[in-house]
Amino acid sequence: MGYEKSEAAFAEAYQYIPGGVDSPVRAFGSVGGVPPFIERGKGPYLYDIDGNRYIDYVQSWGPLIFGHCDPEIEEAVISTAKKGLSFGAPTELETALAREIVELFDSIDKVRFVNSGTEAVMSALRLARGFTGRDDFIKFTGCYHGHSDSLLVQAGSGAATFGAPSSPGVPADLTQHTLLANYNDLESVERCFEQSEGVACVIIEPIAGNMGLVPADESFLQGLRSLCDAHGALLIFDEVMSGFRASLRGAQGLTQVQPDLVTLGKVIGGGMPVGAFGGRAEIMHRLSPEGPVYQAGTLSGNPVAMAAGLASLRKLKAAPSLYVTLAERARKLMDGFEAAAKAQDLPLVTEVRGSMFGFFFTDVPVRNFEDAKRGDNAIFKRFHRAMLDRGVYLACSSYETGFISAALSDELIDETIRIAYEAMAEAAMEQEQV
Ligand SMILES: *Cc1c(COP(=O)(O)O)cnc(C)c1O
Repeated sequence: MGYEKSEAAFAEAYQYIPGGVDSPVRAFGSVGGVPPFIERGKGPYLYDIDGNRYIDYVQSWGPLIFGHCDPEIEEAVISTAKKGLSFGAPTELETALAREIVELFDSIDKVRFVNSGTEAVMSALRLARGFTGRDDFIKFTGCYHGHSDSLLVQAGSGAATFGAPSSPGVPADLTQHTLLANYNDLESVERCFEQSEGVACVIIEPIAGNMGLVPADESFLQGLRSLCDAHGALLIFDEVMSGFRASLRGAQGLTQVQPDLVTLGKVIGGGMPVGAFGGRAEIMHRLSPEGPVYQAGTLSGNPVAMAAGLASLRKLKAAPSLYVTLAERARKLMDGFEAAAKAQDLPLVTEVRGSMFGFFFTDVPVRNFEDAKRGDNAIFKRFHRAMLDRGVYLACSSYETGFISAALSDELIDETIRIAYEAMAEAAMEQEQV
């Protein structure tokens, strides 16, 4: 495979855009090499500007659960766009999408739309603070909740990859209210509660997807619920990634625990920029213009984005067995990776939740960010490159989650596993040379 045109495009982009990209992970910093510049997608495939074709397991980092250019979503977007791109006034499309979400989630009585996951979490946090009248909140090391100031502390994903857990430009004054606990470790949460004068909320990815894929134990989530109730704090599930991915109801389809507030994004926009936050009516009523907690957006609830989200959600609801199929394919892929690794004596642990999958080159189970960091990045890097060169597009960091789309056939899973055997051999061979 040649990457000449992408190399030139990356060099050109570099002159005008910091790092040549609009989101750090896209620069391939942790795996090296030039990121393929994408020309188009179709179904399960990505095509770059050099004419290379890839089986896509990134799916725009989650949103494209039906693959690229799904005909129904495409049609919804085009027909809506023809009526105007934005009005800054209410449309019925917003209500239609809100109704679908409220019907789906027991935890959500009312929902508000924003333009990204970052915005959704930032707004939910403000609402939790406004509702409780408290400033402190608890987050978990390795969980990523977007790049807003007070949440950019020991975050996973790009922040973890680049070794910059909190960023210059974030005043310490703003993060002094951010208490850090360890994922799947209830005692560390208890200690945070003890240290604080008043905790507004605990925010968690109930299925963490930004330190690799690391689900929370049911008993841990139940413990969080009890601690929050005992201290009058709110529990926020950040389901920007897991929503409509782990199951139709996200992590909430797999746990008995009910959060007070939920954040959504990614799949909810069907590929368009959308985020949302929702919860109990009593809390949501505190939001402006009904209540005093301010939040706004010029393009929020954008009709084209709402149409894409609505088409996606209706398709998901109409296909109840979809998640079983996607989970089976994800499991099959991970079993294949495990077998391919074993053939080379490489350690590999894998995880699957619905259409989400993750793997670490380590032999200990991964239950938190410390464990995740034990994964061998050098092997990952070689494996990633070998897969890419053979036409398989995996997330370019070992702290990311992979995604199966409905457009991905069983045959393509088989093909990917066959390629993984070659790639594992290459990853292992180079290891011996070192
Ligand atoms: C992606 C993600 C975000 C941020 O969403 P953006 O749309 O990238 O701003 C927040 N929380 C979680 C769990 C995410 O995976």
